[in-house]
Amino acid sequence: MVHSVYAHMPITVFEEMSGLASRLGAVNLGQGFPDGPGPLALRQKAADAVLNGYNQYPPMVGLPELRQAVADHYRRTQGLDFDGASEVTITSGATEALAAAFLALVKPGDEVVVFQPVYDAYLPLIRRAGGVPKLVTLQPPHWRFDRTMLEAVFSDRTRLVVLNNPINPAGVVLPREDLDLLAEFCITYDAVAICDEVWEQVVFDGAVHTPLIALPGMRARTVKIGSAGKMFGLTGWKVGFLCASPALTHGLSRAHQFLTFTTPPNLQTAVAFGLNEPGDWFTTMHRALQDSRDRLSAGLIRAGFSVLPSQGTYFLNVDLMASGIVEGDRDFALRAVKDAGIAAIPVSALYEVDPVTHILRLCFSKADSTLDLGIERLARARDLSRAAAQI
Ligand code: PMP
Ligand code: GLN
Repeated sequence: MVHSVYAHMPITVFEEMSGLASRLGAVNLGQGFPDGPGPLALRQKAADAVLNGYNQYPPMVGLPELRQAVADHYRRTQGLDFDGASEVTITSGATEALAAAFLALVKPGDEVVVFQPVYDAYLPLIRRAGGVPKLVTLQPPHWRFDRTMLEAVFSDRTRLVVLNNPINPAGVVLPREDLDLLAEFCITYDAVAICDEVWEQVVFDGAVHTPLIALPGMRARTVKIGSAGKMFGLTGWKVGFLCASPALTHGLSRAHQFLTFTTPPNLQTAVAFGLNEPGDWFTTMHRALQDSRDRLSAGLIRAGFSVLPSQGTYFLNVDLMASGIVEGDRDFALRAVKDAGIAAIPVSALYEVDPVTHILRLCFSKADSTLDLGIERLARARDLSRAAAQI
């Protein structure tokens, strides 16, 4: 009765681990969300909007003030030149933006190049739209791709490529040369790029996020996806953006119109306010997240773990093998949440084939005390795992 894409599908690893954490009272460094409340001015704006209007259907493609605010934000921060009225569609989170993009652009049998580890919504959505994913496997510690890897998957059946940059769960901000290479393949094979850039605002150490759409030849063949949830640390708000040429936007907005039709107007107006008047939010957020990343990283190293660098996103990866843990990441993550009270994400869950099984993702957008407790508990999980391996 149920479509084959969903019939045997487990719940996502994020929901699974958050569910276990809350049932078992574990520290949750699994699913990516901040434990801070988010900017007060935005929350006040949203509350005012609920109390004083903004509660009926807004325009299908989003409030004009938000579409303009998105265009202005990208002009200021990334030098992009979107026309708010014809090139921006507001969606219910980046997830809905991705769904709309796949429904609008994938035709049955189209090949879609995807990089794994893969954000877990992509493959089911591509398949449900009739597409055939072609996987490029990225490996720690660098998570880079090269010409040979792209040559192995691009063909004249390639219609789309999906790029997540900065990469969740890798914590990598792709260098310009990788983006140039991918753009060259998109142009040669006449493929459209769907760029999931939800982490664009969360990059560290002065790293610069380069949007693929800014590269020569990519403006008309790229769909750029953003998320206010990530920009403002309000992940439950689910306000996303689709930015693309008017021709692509026409199709994207028609797909969006019968997914959700529109997105709560009170949240849209608050996000428009946040984009127009961010104050020092982005600077404060960067500083706080970078401090948290450094605290988690230093604490883990002191406790004897081997960690991979994190240049962006809320995530830091532990190399279990290099940390002297022989158990696979999923078994270790289950042991950690059940026996040591710490939830994390086993990165193998985000590979479809040939998984890397020795990387554990930790979310660091948390209070110092939570991070410190997390480190303590992860060390306990390691000791339990080592003890079990010796039996
Ligand atoms: N893509 C990536 C890479 C993500 O990490 C996330 C959420 N963490 C999303 C999409 C979904 O974003 P949203 O919550 O706005 O739907
Ligand atoms: N993107 C979030 C993460 O990587 C999870 C989002 C979700 O649970 N759907 O943790």
